[in-house]
Amino acid sequence: MPAYDPQTALLVVDVQNDFADPSGSLYVRGGERIVPLINIESARARAAGAPVFYTQDWHPEVTPHFQKDGGVWPVHCVRDSWGAELHPDLLVDGPVVRKGSNGEDGYSAFSMRDPISGETVPTELAALLAEASVTRLVVCGLATDYCVQASVLDARGHGYPTTVLENAIRAVELQAGDGDRAVEAMLGAGARLESRGTGRPPPDGDPAASPAGQPPPHPTD
Ligand SMILES: [Zn+2]
Repeated sequence: MPAYDPQTALLVVDVQNDFADPSGSLYVRGGERIVPLINIESARARAAGAPVFYTQDWHPEVTPHFQKDGGVWPVHCVRDSWGAELHPDLLVDGPVVRKGSNGEDGYSAFSMRDPISGETVPTELAALLAEASVTRLVVCGLATDYCVQASVLDARGHGYPTTVLENAIRAVELQAGDGDRAVEAMLGAGARLESRGTGRPPPDGDPAASPAGQPPPHPTD
């Protein structure tokens, strides 16, 4: 089990009211339930000297990211709105990286894509990770099939060994099965999947008990 250390950062993706609160405009079912798990995880990370980074979808009122402006999503996470705020129960103990501020699609924590020109621009995350000498990532948050997946695929593209906390992610599932497909895609890109910070072990036992270097058993098998 890759324990936290100063070179292993925890990345908490988009735990914002619009996604994590049942009255949010793009509520991800069960989103609020992962907040305590993420708090446990970030406390563990900080105790081991690991940095914790947070992302925040941060859209202007008008953006081709939104359905009303030609995009695909209901209005969500408009900057300075309640919906864009990080969930009030989330312990925030590290830098917050905002994405989508200039009207881009901001799925990945690492990059933003202009939905009209297709141009991709980096967020500040990669520079922050480099500055902190981070070489490994642990990822959790919302939503599995969009921002978590995009962030993990980009993290792998940047060469970071990446672990996804499967109990601390939740999927939008516009189509049934999107969450599972996202997990498969992340595994296919070389990410590891772990159940941690849940307060309960998966059915096959605590992955913490796995010998070093062994992947944890897949709890749904
Ligand atoms: Zn968005």
